Amino acid sequence: MLRLKRPIWKPERTYLRLAPENRAAMAAHNEKMIGILPIMGWLLMLLPLFSVPLSSTKSGAVPVYLAGFAGFFALFLIYQLPGMKKHALAGLYAAYSIFFLLAVYLSVIHSPGMRATILLGVFCLMPFSFIDRPLRMNLFAAFWLALHAILAFLLKPRSLALDDTINCLCFAILGCFLGNLVVQVRVESFETHRQLILQKETDVLTGLSNRRKLYETLAHLETPASIKPSCVMMIDIDHFKELNDVHGHAAGDRCLGWFGKKLKGFSKDYRIDFYRYGGEEFVAIAYGYSEAKVLDIAESLRASIEKDDVFSLTVSIGVAYCQDDKISNYETVIERADQAAYNAKRLGRNRVSLEKKAQSRLA
Ligand code: GH3
Ligand code: MG
Ligand code: MG
Repeated sequence: MLRLKRPIWKPERTYLRLAPENRAAMAAHNEKMIGILPIMGWLLMLLPLFSVPLSSTKSGAVPVYLAGFAGFFALFLIYQLPGMKKHALAGLYAAYSIFFLLAVYLSVIHSPGMRATILLGVFCLMPFSFIDRPLRMNLFAAFWLALHAILAFLLKPRSLALDDTINCLCFAILGCFLGNLVVQVRVESFETHRQLILQKETDVLTGLSNRRKLYETLAHLETPASIKPSCVMMIDIDHFKELNDVHGHAAGDRCLGWFGKKLKGFSKDYRIDFYRYGGEEFVAIAYGYSEAKVLDIAESLRASIEKDDVFSLTVSIGVAYCQDDKISNYETVIERADQAAYNAKRLGRNRVSLEKKAQSRLA
């Protein structure tokens, strides 16, 4: 059997490559669409209904337009429910199923003696309206194309059925071809945006979040709805200047890169985010730990750096526990952690120091 290593259609390939990292942006786009499409749907059903007194062809289709109106209105109401937004894609396919059903009904049942026209528009619009895997969108269009073709050959005059099928095929190909390209461009632009944000927030040398990201995080922590951290740590590499002086600045840079990877490894095991504060100083923000556990984690971080003999480093760590405090300015907590780190240095380096206030509380 012929097996393709990767999809040959570039939009599909691009989607599969970039979608996992850009789910949130794609979901936000689709949520916006599910907020609009059902409203457009039921408003569009009103137009033919209002034109009934003026049009003889529309009067026979009143129940269908009313059913379409009811379908879109129900969809609109369903997507007002909390929690439904995360199923936006299902709603979008449902909305287009209503459009397709209506168009197929008008073509093969209501006016079998006329050419399908609305259907052509739906085939053209659907692939542009939202973002999903191109293959799935194309299969969805293909399903309605096949269904209409079968019904048309059963229920319409043969020549019209053939005309309709060819016309629908042309419009479906055109819609899917261009729509898939639009999906590709959208996903690529989400990725570009994501990369820009990542670069803006990442320190190049260590690969950790930078100080800008730290300040953004602190500002977020100061908003009422945010999840509050239980502690802030200041981690300072001991005698780093010496390492630079002895082995050179380039070795110092390599060491910072290695140190960044080490901290990243730690953030996989614990609910801790690390930030490069500046030079050889790092801030850690930990969530959901007790004071004793935080000290435990800080100690194991210190010990693991000491144990690793790649660069023979040691660190001094200052810990400020802040779970129970009412904090309006988190920079003060960093200052507290910095004071504690200074204390660790004073006591001989390569140690963890809890801020004095907490020490007396623990005693
Ligand atoms: P202490 O144990 O008291 O912390 O001593 P220290 O030498 O680590 O601290 P000090 O503040 O005296 O020196 C920090 C050094 O970190 C000085 C500076 O050259 C070095 N440094 C800061 N940023 C970088 C960097 O990006 N790359 C390299 N290679 N060195 C850096
Ligand atoms: Mg320092
Ligand atoms: Mg230092």
